[in-house]
Amino acid sequence: MNEHHTPALSESGTGGDSNPPSLPENVLLRVRSLKKYFPVAQRRGEPGVTVRAVDDVSFDVKEGKTLSLVGESGCGKTTTARCIIRAIQPTAGDIYFRTEANELLNLSKLKRNELRPIRREMQLIFQDPYSSLNPRMSVHDIIAEPLVIQGSKDRAAINERVCRLLELVGLSPKHRTRFPNAFSGGQRQRIGIARAIALNPRLLIADEAVSALDVSVQAQIINLLLKLQKDFNLTYIFVTHDLSVVRHISHQVAVMYIGQIVELSDCAELFRQPLHPYTGVLLASVPKLDPASRGSRTVPQGEAPSPRNPPSGCYFHPRCAYAEDRCRTTAPSWVEVQPRRFVRCHRAKELDLPGVGR
Ligand code: SF4
Repeated sequence: MNEHHTPALSESGTGGDSNPPSLPENVLLRVRSLKKYFPVAQRRGEPGVTVRAVDDVSFDVKEGKTLSLVGESGCGKTTTARCIIRAIQPTAGDIYFRTEANELLNLSKLKRNELRPIRREMQLIFQDPYSSLNPRMSVHDIIAEPLVIQGSKDRAAINERVCRLLELVGLSPKHRTRFPNAFSGGQRQRIGIARAIALNPRLLIADEAVSALDVSVQAQIINLLLKLQKDFNLTYIFVTHDLSVVRHISHQVAVMYIGQIVELSDCAELFRQPLHPYTGVLLASVPKLDPASRGSRTVPQGEAPSPRNPPSGCYFHPRCAYAEDRCRTTAPSWVEVQPRRFVRCHRAKELDLPGVGR
């Protein structure tokens, strides 16, 4: 049983560029002590404050697997994802990525021009299939755009690739002359996925990629993502607030609360028995098949506090049904309470929280 004040997994992974860590061969991405702070101006005469949107986040993602970042709005999951693809510059921390050429790069240290060749290997699937596609571009132009930006000039090869991509996402090549408004939400998300995989990426980050869709369409898109993962050994980071989606797609789950990961676990284990009370609260929102277990859980108390002014001690204590005195004054350490199960809670070893099965 290990205890860490700085989150760590199986290896320390804190080396800089001159001393990169040796990653296990199956690890594609290693994030260590990632921080993103935003300065926020106050009214005149008042001191500025710093919002710790992401505060000391660490995890590994294995190649061909899915890690889900889960939590309520404002917990830092999207900011974490945006730091990884370097849409924003992290304040501190390391983001090690194993390239196709088996080179280990620390993305957090690379300059913009150094990132350009690696961008092909990391792509984003956007949340809103309605606003993420340019309504004035044909489906062909939308999907071909990344190929053209990367320098492809062979029109016949581009046409062939676009047709193939449409088939891969379950659409007809005949659709490529149409415009986004001719498609349903699910079909638009398929077009977005075709664009995201156009350059044969290795890491796909899906930010609330199915939350705008109907439940039945969500299932179709998740099945498509699972098929593509199997066929092309894709690695996913799935950002969502919805645990019922997570259980169908994830191998590992990281639960975030006010900028920190409070629980990191294999997905099946997390659903079988959550170790952090906040995970238990999130699981309570997952639809249950067994009527006997409905309504038997603790529901969240109050609103999530603002990351501008987090509570003392454990950030979750104002909402936690299991809080005791030390929770209000002392921040819990990040502890591996079971093999490959990390949690940030003083009482994780003694609580027996109910799971939902699989
Ligand atoms: Fe609840 Fe205390 Fe655990 Fe925080 S440390 S989650 S307040 S029991």
